[in-house]
Amino acid sequence: MTPRPRPRATGGIADADADSLWIATAATAPTLPTLDGDAAFDVAVVGAGYTGLSAALHLAERRVRVAVLDAHEPGWGASGRNGGQVNPGLKLARTDLRRLFATDLADRMYDAAAGAPGFLFDLVRRTGIACAATQTGTYRLAHSATAARTLQAAAATLAAEGAPVRMLDGQAIAGEIGANGYLCGYLDPRGGNVHPLDYVRGLARVAMAYGAKIYAGVQVDALERSSDGWHVRTSHGIVRADSVIVGTNGYTGDVWPGLAQTLLPVLSFQIATARLTSAAAQTILPGRQAAYDSRRLILYFRRSPDDRVVLGGRASFTTAHRVADYSVLQRVLAGLFPVLAKTPIEYRWAGRVAITSDFLPHLHEPAPGLYVGGGYNGRGVAMATLLGQVLADLACGRRDIPYPITAIRRIPLHALREPALHVAMLYQKAMDDLGR
Ligand SMILES: Cc1cc2nc3c(=O)[nH]c(=O)nc-3n(C[C@H](O)[C@H](O)[C@H](O)COP(=O)(O)OP(=O)(O)OC[C@H]3O[C@@H](n4cnc5c(N)ncnc54)[C@H](O)[C@@H]3O)c2cc1C
Repeated sequence: MTPRPRPRATGGIADADADSLWIATAATAPTLPTLDGDAAFDVAVVGAGYTGLSAALHLAERRVRVAVLDAHEPGWGASGRNGGQVNPGLKLARTDLRRLFATDLADRMYDAAAGAPGFLFDLVRRTGIACAATQTGTYRLAHSATAARTLQAAAATLAAEGAPVRMLDGQAIAGEIGANGYLCGYLDPRGGNVHPLDYVRGLARVAMAYGAKIYAGVQVDALERSSDGWHVRTSHGIVRADSVIVGTNGYTGDVWPGLAQTLLPVLSFQIATARLTSAAAQTILPGRQAAYDSRRLILYFRRSPDDRVVLGGRASFTTAHRVADYSVLQRVLAGLFPVLAKTPIEYRWAGRVAITSDFLPHLHEPAPGLYVGGGYNGRGVAMATLLGQVLADLACGRRDIPYPITAIRRIPLHALREPALHVAMLYQKAMDDLGR
């Protein structure tokens, strides 16, 4: 069966992977100006996702003249396609960060990431972005005995640090969210959900209201430094700026030498069911929290604002998307929620998650006045919003930031990533199947 084509309901996001519930249910895309020939700004931003638009919003609020340039349109990349889960924290624990960075910096990173959902929900409240934002919490769930031990230790550490997490056994999880097969889990009330495309379009609208210019369909081909600042060579002319921010993440091409080779772009797939019956809606995530589990090929699910189950996972490490990848998710869905075994799947889509070698987001400053943020490892809804503000601070000359600026380091043998990752994926899937 081939995923059926669907007319695009709103916006013009045209991409084979974008048969998405979010496109079908989003408010209309903002009307954007066109870039005609050369122009000059204080800051030029490449990429109109959460990173670039949060940076632009925080710059425009400070009356900095900022232009955002996107080869497609706001939210065309991962920011318009993701699960909309606003997850607290980085993938590494505080103790892991302290092994990699000075204690003070490690603690600031950890605390900033833990507070990233709060930062996002405050921003949404403060600016009035309509994106079905709900700070209802995030469940982290254990699918195996090994994962249960890890998760119990993580919950104990979080509780000792004062995080308001609540531990649940498998029976309590089944009772609260209707999902089968988990041994235990915890609810972290700092997380929640947004409608991801409405959120990114909302950021664009608010940034424009403060004076930012956002240009769609403008491909950035090169960034050149000269005596009068940066020259951003685009498909529509040269944009001159004192500083440049790059937020191209999993869709990074040749915009700066070596940058694409610091990231492994892997596809994450999602399906959305038909609307739940009222009986199913009473048992499946009635509290509308976000949830993700401990499988290596991480599985995440939530209720959509229009009462479907949206379930996603990393079914493949190739950049091609295949029907089989969606069938895997459909089988997993029926296992978790047997009541949905016959519920039709109405939307299927995929997007690129950017993985880094240390599983941490990265900030780079490869040349004076050039700032890069990305590599969110599937946790970019909150973190890209936060690091967008940090990038804005850097472009304004502030150096006291809660995150390290690291050198661009290419991942060794990056060119061989697809076959290597495919083998790794098969291994990880086998381990998941064995419950390890
Ligand atoms: C399927 C999926 C599910 C996910 N689920 C979650 C989740 O539930 N929770 C969570 O926290 N995170 C999730 N993520 C990750 C999250 O979506 C990303 O981390 C985040 O959106 C990254 O935002 P960004 O602005 O950095 O990049 P993007 O949103 O990818 O934007 C990059 C933009 O750069 C533009 N661009 C690239 N090159 C150029 C160029 N040369 N010139 C001009 N423009 C260019 C692209 O057109 C694109 O619009 C998910 C990701 C995917 C793909």
